[in-house]
Amino acid sequence: MRINALLKALSSEVNLQILSVLRSGSFHPRELARILQRDESDISRRLKNLERLGIVEGRWVRVGGKNVRIYSLKVGELSIAFEPGEVRIKTNGETSYKFPTRWEKRPDVDLFVGREEELKILRNSKGVVVVYGIAGIGKTTLVARAFPEAYWYPMTGMGDFDYLVWQLGLFLNSLGWTNLIDYLRSSGREENEILELVLEGLDITKGTVVIEDLHKCEDERVLRMLSYLAPRLRAGRVVVTTRVRPNLGMEGVTYLHLKGLEPEEAYQLVRLKGREFSPEEFAELYKLTLGHPLAINLVIESRGFREIGRESLFDFLFNEVYQQLGEGEKRMLSLLSLFDEPLEYDAVRFLYGSKNAFPVLYSLMRRGLVERRGEYCFLHEMMKSFARQLGEIDKRDTYLRYVEYLLKRPTPRSFLLAFKYAVKAGARDRVRNLVLLRIRKFRRIVTDFSRAYLQLLSEVADDPHAKLEMGMVYFQNGLFEKAKKLWLEAEPELEGVFKAEVEALMADISMELTDFEGAREYLEKTRKLAEELNDTYVWLSYYMERTKYNYYRGDLEGALESVFKELELVRKLEDIEEEPLVLLHAGDIYAEMGHYRKAILYYEEAMRLSRVYGIRFLEHTSYMELAKAHHGLENHEKAVEYATKAAEYFLKVRNYRRAVDAIAYRCVSYLSLGKLDKAEADAREIIRIAQTTGYPLGWAGYLFLGAVEKLRGRDGDEYFEMGKEKLKDHEWIYEAVLWELGKILDAS
Ligand code: ADP
Repeated sequence: MRINALLKALSSEVNLQILSVLRSGSFHPRELARILQRDESDISRRLKNLERLGIVEGRWVRVGGKNVRIYSLKVGELSIAFEPGEVRIKTNGETSYKFPTRWEKRPDVDLFVGREEELKILRNSKGVVVVYGIAGIGKTTLVARAFPEAYWYPMTGMGDFDYLVWQLGLFLNSLGWTNLIDYLRSSGREENEILELVLEGLDITKGTVVIEDLHKCEDERVLRMLSYLAPRLRAGRVVVTTRVRPNLGMEGVTYLHLKGLEPEEAYQLVRLKGREFSPEEFAELYKLTLGHPLAINLVIESRGFREIGRESLFDFLFNEVYQQLGEGEKRMLSLLSLFDEPLEYDAVRFLYGSKNAFPVLYSLMRRGLVERRGEYCFLHEMMKSFARQLGEIDKRDTYLRYVEYLLKRPTPRSFLLAFKYAVKAGARDRVRNLVLLRIRKFRRIVTDFSRAYLQLLSEVADDPHAKLEMGMVYFQNGLFEKAKKLWLEAEPELEGVFKAEVEALMADISMELTDFEGAREYLEKTRKLAEELNDTYVWLSYYMERTKYNYYRGDLEGALESVFKELELVRKLEDIEEEPLVLLHAGDIYAEMGHYRKAILYYEEAMRLSRVYGIRFLEHTSYMELAKAHHGLENHEKAVEYATKAAEYFLKVRNYRRAVDAIAYRCVSYLSLGKLDKAEADAREIIRIAQTTGYPLGWAGYLFLGAVEKLRGRDGDEYFEMGKEKLKDHEWIYEAVLWELGKILDAS
């Protein structure tokens, strides 16, 4: 039935996340999958279902000679009416029912006792709140009870900052604030800017974020973020649970030390669990557990707690409960104990390998041995160490099966996890395959999750494939010499496509280091390997480097020839992220040749493609290039229009270098149009940006101000002097801007 299907679709967190992202525009499933860090085919399936239900709308768009389907929201609101004999869901009624977006990592709290005082403190808090105390004392449960709508982030100990901020971007996006996710999608990675965006986003949305198990954190950037937010947050809130009290300063931080339950509360817990204890028995229980809720749970499940002392309490209780378990349950406990992070149900079923995985799991949950988070389950940290010692299950084999499971639906996250467990299992051959997968399918991991990836790679640092990858991360961060050293080490040991990859990268880095002779040699080696291997990807790497090489050497015809080869190959590979980029390069080459009209054709195609695929960064880069090309053709109105679009976006994602480029072009166009007030405002804007970022083109603002004065019939020399002084280390910018301005001033 349709209504059932609709309600079911709406009760899925992933679907709600999709809908909340679609609110900001239309998307291709692949970009949507990237934003949500999920598998593309899963997203496509969900979109089709939502489309069938009439909530989203798909349409075919023709770009680059093929048809692609993109999706947008069809209804902004749904209402459900309970009427005699039927329930009706209307799409544009007056009433609407809220299905709050529930975040899957948030724990469910079914049973809760006491803690009135603590709840009050938490709910009245602002800024950063730290709840600390020993394992199992009830930190997680308390915080989940206090903030049911919070976004929940469990620390993993694996380069957490990048993943955390990506998730925060998504969370804030669901609350209607898109700036952080836009910033990250545009490859913005400046820590300071991210902190500012997180602060602004949390304050504007009044959002609450919970960071669980901060003691596992190995990424100092997370701690810096908390110290930054604490004194500054006004309306938003970050709650941290941890076993060890961190030092985040005092200003804006509330510390809450959680201790055991009070006797009345403990008694209530025992009663709610359906157990009868005599007053003496209860007194004994309380004396032993001191109100520790997890220990109480175990006591309830076990028998005969009287004879033991408190030091070995846990050991004893666990063993007591363990003895009562069946074989399957024991195996399941041992399985779960092997993993640091919660496992999806599907993964548990896959790893456990028999049909009755669920009954076994539920029995353990009922006994309070296994905990649940949405679609995930895990063993409480305290039990893990006990269960690990039991060793009922083969570790290496289990890890390898998990790798297999994770790669069935690869996402960046599952890729990183697969890497982690392949390394843990000591499986070098898998590392090689994973590196290949990264190069072919997950290019963005080296930028989006560089820290986590580097950390994993460092565990197998002597492997040549790992060296190739580590070099890639360094290269992306501009550490060219470091990258080069690793690649030179790895090169003789690599073979086939890996070798080709490293040769192409060496060609690239040689160009970055202006060693063109070296670049030519590596290019030649890449070409030979491409021929030998006859591999499309390798050919693509080769032509990409060759275009760059020819362009840098001033051989524009040659660059054009190889850029068209690139275009042919990216289309063959259906690589939607590369295609607009290649089109932009083709446009650049034509623009460099002075063929602006041809350049515009390619820029427009790049713009259309990236818009269809929802790759906003490239869409706006295209506007920027279009502005330049129209400026070249003296279509000043058009140049202003495109430069404005680009400037607004780049300011929003805090890419000030590109924003200044765009505003500078607009400013010159205004000057040509005689719109002097507007030109003046732009000039002042880029000077302001130069003052905070030091980006040199911004200082050209003074030269623009001088030109404004001259065009107003006044003397602008003072501004020209100032511009010259500020640009004394960047003479070519000074010359180029003066030359442009000279044309305008001469014409007037
Ligand atoms: P921590 O986060 O401090 O390690 P948890 O919040 O996971 O501890 O709590 C451990 C166990 O104790 C959980 O199974 C939880 O259900 C139970 N528990 C904790 N606090 C309470 C409470 N106030 N009421 C009922 N059960 C609780």
